Amino acid sequence: MGLERVSTDLLERQLVANRELEARLHAVNLEILEELDRRQVAALDGCRSLVEWVASRLDVGPETARKLVSAMKRTVDRPELRRALADGVSLDRVEALSWIEEEPGRLEHLDVSGVRREAALRRRVTPPEEHRSVRDRFLVLQPSLDESWWRIRGGLDAVSGAVVDTALTEAADSLPSLPDGTRGDGPWRRATALVELCVGSEPPPAQVTVFVDARHGAATGGEAGTVLEVGPRAGRLALHAVLCDSTVEVTARTEDGRYMEYGRRVRTTPPALRRAVLHRDGGVCAADGCRSRYRLQIHHLVPWSEGGTTESDNLVTLCWYHHQVVTHQLGYTPYRHPDHGRIRFRPPRRAPPE
Ligand SMILES: [Zn+2]
Ligand SMILES: [Zn+2]
Repeated sequence: MGLERVSTDLLERQLVANRELEARLHAVNLEILEELDRRQVAALDGCRSLVEWVASRLDVGPETARKLVSAMKRTVDRPELRRALADGVSLDRVEALSWIEEEPGRLEHLDVSGVRREAALRRRVTPPEEHRSVRDRFLVLQPSLDESWWRIRGGLDAVSGAVVDTALTEAADSLPSLPDGTRGDGPWRRATALVELCVGSEPPPAQVTVFVDARHGAATGGEAGTVLEVGPRAGRLALHAVLCDSTVEVTARTEDGRYMEYGRRVRTTPPALRRAVLHRDGGVCAADGCRSRYRLQIHHLVPWSEGGTTESDNLVTLCWYHHQVVTHQLGYTPYRHPDHGRIRFRPPRRAPPE
C-alpha cells in the first residue's frame, strides 16, 4: 500500500476512522442478531446457545461471540447505547456503559478501563451474591507428573483475597535480603513467603526414614547400603535440608533379611543440645545482620549427611529463611568469619557442566 510515505498523523487518524466504521457495523450487526434471536435460530439450527451459533456462523472464538451476544442483550432496552454505537463509539465502551444507568456522554472523561471501574463501583453486591462468592472459593495444588514442581491456582471472595494478599505482602516484605544484596523479584518473594507462613512457628515434624542394609553396609564401611526415603523427587539439597534439623527414623535390615527398627524417631540434634545452641546464639538467627527470632532452626555447618558432627561447634542457629531458603535451597554456604565469628555466606558454586 506504500504506507511508508504516509505521515504518522494521517495513519493514526485512518486507524481511528476505521475503528469507528467497525462500531457502525457492530451497531447494524446487533440489530440483526436481535432479530435472529427473536426467530430462535440457535435452537432451530441445533445449537445450545446463541453464542455457540454466532461462533460457528461467523467463524469466531467463543470469547468474541460471547462479547457480541452480551452486547446485544445488554442494549436491547438501551436505545441510546445502540445510537452511540452507530455514531462510532467503540463496542468495548458501549459494553462497559451498559452496566451503568447513565447517559453515555457523561463518562467521556474516563477511558474504557475507567468506565469498567466506575461500573464495578456502582454495582450492588447482594447477599446471595456474597454467599456465592464464599461458596465458590477454591484452591487447587497440582503436582507435575514427576512431582518435582507444583502449580497452584484458585479463587477467593473479595475479603479473603485481601486478607491473603496483605499477609503475603507483609511476609514477603519482611524477608531479609539475600547474601549477595539482592532481594529476589516480587513473585519469588511472595511464593517464599507463602511457604514460610505454612511452616508455622515450629519446624514441621519432617520425618526421614533411613534404611541401612547391614550386608552392604558392613562390606563397604558404611559407604553403601544406606537408602533414605524423603519422597520421590527430593534431590541432594533437599535431603541435606531435611537431615539438618529434623526427626529421623533408622530401620536396619540384618544379614538374614529381617527388618529391625532402632533409634526410633531421633532428632538429628538432641533437644538438650538444641537448647544449648539456641542459648549460645542469644536466641536469634546467627546470620550477620539478621536479628530474627522467628522459626529458628539448627544448622550443621558441615552437613550431618556428610559426617558433620552433632556438637555445638558444628551447629549454628538460623532463622527459617536463612536456613531453608538461603542455605539449603539457594545453595549459599554459611561459615564462621575468622575475625569476629559472625556467620556470613559464601555464594553457591556454579554447577559443573553436565
Ligand atoms: Zn541446615
Ligand atoms: Zn536470619
